[in-house]
Amino acid sequence: MARLTIGDEQIERFRAGVRGDVIRPVDAAYDDARAVWNGMIDKYPGLIVRCRGAADVIRAVEFARQNDLRVAVRGGGHNVAGTAVCDDGLVIDLSEMTGVRVDPDERTAWVQGGATWADVDHETQAFGLATPGGVVSDTGVAGLTLGGGLGHLRCRYGLSCDNLVSVELVTATGEFLTASEDENPDLFWGLRGGGGNFGVVTGFEFDLHPVGPDVATCLVFYSGDRLAEVLRAYREFVLEAPDEISTLVFAGELPDEELFPAERVHEGKFAIMGCYAGPASEGERVLAPLREFADPIADFSGTMPYTDFQRVLDEDYPEGMRYYWKSLYLDGLSESAIDRIAYWAETAPSPLSTVDVWQLGGAIADVGVEESSFAGRHAPFLLGVEANWEDPETDAANVEWVRDCLTDMQQFSDGSVYLNFPGMLEDNDELMETTFGPAYERLVALKDEYDPTNRFSLNQNIKPT
Ligand code: FAD
Repeated sequence: MARLTIGDEQIERFRAGVRGDVIRPVDAAYDDARAVWNGMIDKYPGLIVRCRGAADVIRAVEFARQNDLRVAVRGGGHNVAGTAVCDDGLVIDLSEMTGVRVDPDERTAWVQGGATWADVDHETQAFGLATPGGVVSDTGVAGLTLGGGLGHLRCRYGLSCDNLVSVELVTATGEFLTASEDENPDLFWGLRGGGGNFGVVTGFEFDLHPVGPDVATCLVFYSGDRLAEVLRAYREFVLEAPDEISTLVFAGELPDEELFPAERVHEGKFAIMGCYAGPASEGERVLAPLREFADPIADFSGTMPYTDFQRVLDEDYPEGMRYYWKSLYLDGLSESAIDRIAYWAETAPSPLSTVDVWQLGGAIADVGVEESSFAGRHAPFLLGVEANWEDPETDAANVEWVRDCLTDMQQFSDGSVYLNFPGMLEDNDELMETTFGPAYERLVALKDEYDPTNRFSLNQNIKPT
């Protein structure tokens, strides 16, 4: 049960001062409000405030400061480590702040801090425009963008954070600031990769690009027996591919009865998934080799609405299931790295788990390392290790599989990780330093300036001095 040592009168005053709901443990809405996407997370906040605008966020931050409360900030609630909620403290929940306003002439979109990528795609595609989001549409814009943002448009148009024009946020002192190249540029630098360390973002302004409405896509499934051989061909293909192509490979059993012939449902498989950010007819031609590396088990590639493609994976990540994910930037796909990927894909305890390889480079690598705090521009590939399972009895085996895989794969990496796939929240300064490299000290200086008491600590935390 949550503990919060604040009197009723004070809470009622807070409630009266905000437009959104203030939810206490005794309220009927409490259990739904404290649940997040990952069913492994079971936190009991002292209070949850469902903000309806920047004024509520300012009040909430002030309330936390006055009462010295631990704060969790919730955007889309999809962080695997469950950092959107906390025990005992205050959850500043922006999930009702989902507004998106598109300026088709300027090709920009203004997005509130609790919107999901589905909200953004819906509004921007009405004008034939898009900004790079994630590959699952119900993921939050805020957490994903502040940590970088890898999606289907990444090699052509960069990370989500690369497309930011400006950010509005409430800092730990309750101050409302704008950060852009012109205003508070240092803070703007930190917000593009440094996560939720510097305040509560109430709005993001993104650049938009002409995309769709139809795009050429690839979603082809091969037998797991062919993984090593196909990954070699894939490696050669993507290293030469035009930036319009962004792909990822995911390998596991993938036992989806609707997708595969009955006799193949329970065999090892892998998929290559991606799209072409350009004219669809050209895209079909350029993507074709990815579909011809071996005999496919199933091939769902083709031209489809961009918004549909953005939702293809949604059903595979249901709310409330159990998840533990980690990642590692790879310095290449050597023969031995490929062999180890094949080994780990075969040994996953859960049939729903996957080992993923994300193609990077292109527009991600075109941005100078000092232009933003995002730390993963150097690597050609990112390894994602996703344990996805249902039975709580197998928690330990699934977590151990991810950890063992990561330990083994370190030999192919400089040890830096993508902080948006964080497993569980761990206090790991060394990992933060390894990952951010030379940017780390600058991030600490920013934290000292904007959050010296570490009010925003439930994140991939940069500790103030
Ligand atoms: P939340 O859990 O709400 O927030 C996570 C953290 O972000 C918070 O603890 C807080 O520190 C910060 N935060 C959230 N909102 C705000 C705000 N308004 N202001 C300040 N800080 C805030 N990542 C990719 O790059 N590409 C993908 O394709 C991708 N796919 C995913 C698919 C699924 C199913 C899931 C679960 C995750 C995926 N991710 C992906 C990882 C994703 O980027 C992170 O989980 C991210 O933290 C989710 O953001 P959120 O707002 O939904 O999370």
